[in-house]
Amino acid sequence: MASAALLDLMTNKTSEPEAKKKLAEVLGSHDPNACFMCARCTTGCEAMELLENFPHQVVNLARLGLIDELVNGEKIWACMQCLKCTERCPQDVAPSDVFLALRNMAVQAGAKVPEGFFKALEMIMETGYLQPVQEVVSRTFETYTRKTLNLREEIPQPSDKEKFKEVFMATMEGMF
Ligand code: SF4
Ligand code: SF4
Repeated sequence: MASAALLDLMTNKTSEPEAKKKLAEVLGSHDPNACFMCARCTTGCEAMELLENFPHQVVNLARLGLIDELVNGEKIWACMQCLKCTERCPQDVAPSDVFLALRNMAVQAGAKVPEGFFKALEMIMETGYLQPVQEVVSRTFETYTRKTLNLREEIPQPSDKEKFKEVFMATMEGMF
């Protein structure tokens, strides 16, 4: 007898065993089932305060197989892939990998990728960096530039831009 699908009483969504299986294959040894919901990943998440990113919730939904909700939602795009959650996890779950795998599933399913990702990609292709050089503000509201931090003002650029783009794209393709 086939087992009944799990039902999320908050959203009325049912679990998707096939999608869950596909996710487990990609994640390998970083099994979301090992998560015991300590939320250590979330308390260290760089995006939690600004983007309301709660990696333990995403891992939990993935663990329960409620993939559709994640793939079609905004939560998976809030992560900035700093990998802190994965370093902090006592259970060798890799929330950052869960985010990446879900994003790939979303793209394969035709979901809309937030505009900021294309801008970041363009920036890397053009300069080799994710962001332009910026002033930073300290906790005591002092502003620092590279000059006031005694850093070289000119930052190195790829010497051969075309070659850089080629290698970068080949690396990206190899990752997914
Ligand atoms: S740190 Fe690891 S075990 Fe704890 S909630 Fe996050 S994923 Fe689960
Ligand atoms: S990798 Fe993503 S989810 Fe993990 S701590 Fe960094 S921003 Fe948060």
